[in-house]
Amino acid sequence: MLIVQKYGGTSVGDLDRIENVANRIAKARDGGDDLVVVVSAMSGETNKLIAFANHFTSNPAKKEMDMLLSSGERVTASLLSIALQSMGYESIAMSGRQAGIITDDTHTYARIESIDPSAMQDAIKKGKIIIVAGFQGINKDGSVTTLGRGGSDLSAVALAGALDADQCEIYSDVDGIYTTDPRIEPKAKKLDTISYDEMLELSSLGAKVLQNRSVELAKKLNVKLFAKSSFSDNEGTLITKESNNMEEVLVSGVVLDKNQARVTLRGVSDRPGIAAEIFTLLAKENINVDMIIQNMGTDGSTNLGFTVPQSEHENAKVLMASFDHDIEGMDFDNKVCKVSVVGVGMKSHAGVAATAFTVLADNNINIQMISTSEIKVSMVIDEKYGELAIRTLHEAYELDK
Ligand code: ASP
Ligand code: MG
Repeated sequence: MLIVQKYGGTSVGDLDRIENVANRIAKARDGGDDLVVVVSAMSGETNKLIAFANHFTSNPAKKEMDMLLSSGERVTASLLSIALQSMGYESIAMSGRQAGIITDDTHTYARIESIDPSAMQDAIKKGKIIIVAGFQGINKDGSVTTLGRGGSDLSAVALAGALDADQCEIYSDVDGIYTTDPRIEPKAKKLDTISYDEMLELSSLGAKVLQNRSVELAKKLNVKLFAKSSFSDNEGTLITKESNNMEEVLVSGVVLDKNQARVTLRGVSDRPGIAAEIFTLLAKENINVDMIIQNMGTDGSTNLGFTVPQSEHENAKVLMASFDHDIEGMDFDNKVCKVSVVGVGMKSHAGVAATAFTVLADNNINIQMISTSEIKVSMVIDEKYGELAIRTLHEAYELDK
């Protein structure tokens, strides 16, 4: 098999851990697999480099930042290759450029445009283990670019696609995707399999095991993705395309997002263009709006509610003040959270949402906002009931079984 493995910052956090990773790679190699290994910078390293730059200016040139930040991954890639060679294995460390990764010009947040896998393929043919510095490529002018925070996951998935690898394994300190955060519900169970779409819902909602863009790309390229731990030999979770038997499972997970603030606008003039004005202003300030709810207007006015990240709560307040001729009353609450129930089984089963509402009602938890998609029901509730809601929902959908 040709396997792309990716080791995150914690997995290569110090020299002992790099050695541990080298041993794992050696074992896979001894088993007969061809390996392309993508690495992150050692944990904390990227932040340290950013802090170094900020010592001189809070606004360093993005091009220089890419040159700087890409070095973190190159350190790990070279050290890991040196470790493998010292154990008698043939390996070669490659930068993003050497691995053939071409991106656009968006420094610090580049998109991969193409990959020429021929150098990697040549090295594989020669029996070498390839170690690639993640998170980076070059643009058409040959300048180094980086792919955005957490971008090594994206490198790994993109390389797996370009090499037509049999699978892509993402290693971190967590051994897979759980039905919910085990710190909230110790009875949380590790999932064997989950669909790309469910994973996207879970990760955007806070289960930060895989970078979102990498899951989107895996879905697009149909890359078989595993989330595993580099500290154990546990099975991990397979993230793959949806299959019929996945739909038999009603709900795959429940997630809590504490980073939410609610904005309620009452008596908003019910005229064409008002929503466009409000949300354009928020977008201009780069405030991500998540849930939006608008009532049917009566007597020329309507109510509008939405959520923003908690850190943007004050900014949203300031921006909304400029609409006071169009809005009768405003209410801002940053003591809210969002609980979501996710599962592809919802597509073919009725009553999943009703169960969620009933469970919260039984616990006297008031639901302030609701939004749904084909595979998700999200509810905004008082922050202090967030964890209770997660535990009771987890039990109600028998996720502990
Ligand atoms: N080192 C980069 C970061 O910390 C990329 C990565 O770890 O995936 O964001
Ligand atoms: Mg990472």
